[in-house]
Amino acid sequence: KEFRNNVKPNWCPGCGDFSVQAAIQRAAANIGLEPEQLAVISGIGCSGRISGYINAYGLHGIHGRSLPIAQGVKLANRELTVIASGGDGDGFAIGMGHTVHAIRRNLDVTYIVMDNQIYGLTKGQTSPRSAEGFKTKSTPEGSIESTLSPLEIALSAGATFVAQSFSSDLKQLTALIEAGLQHKGFSLINVFSPCVTFNKVNTYDWFKSNIVNLEQFPDYDPSNRIAAMTKIMETNGMITGLIYQNKERKAYDELIVGFKEEGLVKQDLQLSREDFDKLLTEFK
Ligand code: SF4
Repeated sequence: KEFRNNVKPNWCPGCGDFSVQAAIQRAAANIGLEPEQLAVISGIGCSGRISGYINAYGLHGIHGRSLPIAQGVKLANRELTVIASGGDGDGFAIGMGHTVHAIRRNLDVTYIVMDNQIYGLTKGQTSPRSAEGFKTKSTPEGSIESTLSPLEIALSAGATFVAQSFSSDLKQLTALIEAGLQHKGFSLINVFSPCVTFNKVNTYDWFKSNIVNLEQFPDYDPSNRIAAMTKIMETNGMITGLIYQNKERKAYDELIVGFKEEGLVKQDLQLSREDFDKLLTEFK
């Protein structure tokens, strides 16, 4: 159960993504997965590198497209536990269409977003998660657009698992990833993961003083969707913990007729080697 490999991450020292990587590795080991039972599919951005740093199947995909690839992997081989990952720009800007539809589709994939509220890989531009007034090279006078709330969007789109955490809280983050991996259906885990190089506003200290941990509300019921939406709005999206889980709704893969049969990767293609080669030639 060794999910570490020998690849040295080239994130900046102090980047929040290190903790996300560690939490995924711990969570996968804690729930008893073997490396060959896990696939990590990532998009483009600093966070997208994560698929190369985990000893499991991995694919560093294309910008905003980790979810279609991850869903394809899951549909082809339902025996795999599948994680999709990326940053807030990747998932909530160019990839937002995929995010919303993956949420409502409810296929059994865990989507971990490293939300640093800026574009880090391209050296610091305003992202959909940046606050109004946020100054970067792309908004030198301050952003005049409102900040997108992925948790509200997820709930509105029919999400069955919505959580948020902070890369400094490795214990909570690991537990939430474990819960997401074990949830039957689509799970969204948004992680505040500071970019120490380009975002000098949303720093570790800033998050520490603005985050509201659900542990403060012992009576909170994560199965209550209205309470979840209220809590998100009351905290201006800064709530962390398991915000919402619907265990009743069936996952997409449980509803597909015939999906209980062998996954695509196990099915006999019923093609001769010659016919198979012909088919490949057609698509070259
Ligand atoms: Fe992390 Fe920011 Fe450095 Fe990218 S630029 S590796 S997000 S600290």
